[in-house]
Amino acid sequence: MSDSPRQTIVKGGLVVTARGLERADVLIVDGVVAEIGSFESGHDDADVLPAEGCYVLPGGVDFHTHMDSVFRGSIRTADDFATGTAAAVAGGTTTIIDFCRAAPGETLAEALDQWRRRVVEQRPWADYGAHMVLVQPDDDTLSQLSSLPDLGVTSIKMYLAYPGRMMSDDRALLRAMQSAAASDLLVLVHAENGHAIQVLVEDALSAGHTEPAWHAKSRPTVTEAEAVSRSAVLAQLAGARLYVVHVSSAAALSEIERARATGTDITAETCSHYLVFDDSMVDGVPKEVASRFVCSPPTRDLDDQNALWEALGHGTLDVLSSDHCPFALQGEKIVEGDFTHIMNGLPGVEQRLAIAYQGVVNGQYSMERMVEFVSTTPARLAGIHPKKGELAVGSDADLVILDPHATTVLSAATHHSAADYLPYEGMEVAGRVTRVLLRGTTVYVDGSVLPENRQGTYLHRSASHQPTGETR
Ligand SMILES: [Zn+2]
Repeated sequence: MSDSPRQTIVKGGLVVTARGLERADVLIVDGVVAEIGSFESGHDDADVLPAEGCYVLPGGVDFHTHMDSVFRGSIRTADDFATGTAAAVAGGTTTIIDFCRAAPGETLAEALDQWRRRVVEQRPWADYGAHMVLVQPDDDTLSQLSSLPDLGVTSIKMYLAYPGRMMSDDRALLRAMQSAAASDLLVLVHAENGHAIQVLVEDALSAGHTEPAWHAKSRPTVTEAEAVSRSAVLAQLAGARLYVVHVSSAAALSEIERARATGTDITAETCSHYLVFDDSMVDGVPKEVASRFVCSPPTRDLDDQNALWEALGHGTLDVLSSDHCPFALQGEKIVEGDFTHIMNGLPGVEQRLAIAYQGVVNGQYSMERMVEFVSTTPARLAGIHPKKGELAVGSDADLVILDPHATTVLSAATHHSAADYLPYEGMEVAGRVTRVLLRGTTVYVDGSVLPENRQGTYLHRSASHQPTGETR
């Protein structure tokens, strides 16, 4: 072994950079992009990875995943950071931003320390960072928010849904937004009106409606739109930067546009499943089938679905995330009792890029635009750009080679998640991720993750930066 730097050339691909699409070679030295150009000679020691006929993209950044998370007191998501990030890299995502939540009596710093130890023990495949979850925070907790940036956490997450479990009231939300604004933290909000939904659920159950479809029917789009509008008003009062997670409806998109027009600093994501599934997946089908698609907010109708595709294209939506949150089929998704006992959440971290690429194939948006919302913009918002989310000299060599001439069949039989089912089962999509590099090292190739190259590390995030606004 010599001490000369480790060199790799990704050769002849169609590379997506900030300048657009260009046919080029990417020279990687010691895990970092050293040059993008044409290298016929002079690098005889380099490993050459052929990419002719393929796209070469910056690794995906998933801004919203739930690995190894416990909900409703004791039910753990199907994936931990090992299986969940194996799924991520297999799907072309090399960075995830997950969630840390303090236990009662724990400080935010202690919670993050515990979270980081746990993730290291699970040896993730992808690089990772954390959002800090707050539930009805008290003054003591709010006083700790100023400590987060030094710990590498530059965002908080709050819920307007799930009263009694996760929900914060408007006073707590506004106080948290004020503290967040003072410390330059991005505020993520789950925007659904929890109390209104509680009333509609009570009414549905007392009328004898127990089937999974009533999960969706008790969460109509107006309950989402109202919560988006309210969060935007409070964010503007506080001077806070707001990010709306998992936008699912045209009604919510209208509220985002309205808030943006009045000067609110608001960004938003949708998630892959809302682009593929509609309410027919849960309505008028057997309980065993419908339960597989239960998530919050629920999947909507085809008009909403079309509006989300368009909003990704024209920029009302800034980011596509997965909200990867799988649960076991028997006992957690398919349950004995009524729809309120179904665990909310779907897998998707491995399928997010594949689904996004269908929009390129179908002419919804360009390849460059897709890279913005699956990689560049989430990296900016996470405060890890241009190290992540960009193919440029000096960036981490997180690369995805995507073969546009091949196809992929999405299936639980071949996915890398520990989830025991896949809502996309059997769906054939254009394109195939053939190889993925994390900091210059191949972590996934031709269907397999490479155990010897497992090296995910914690990302110390800076203050986040909004997208430039060029798109919208
Ligand atoms: Zn989520």
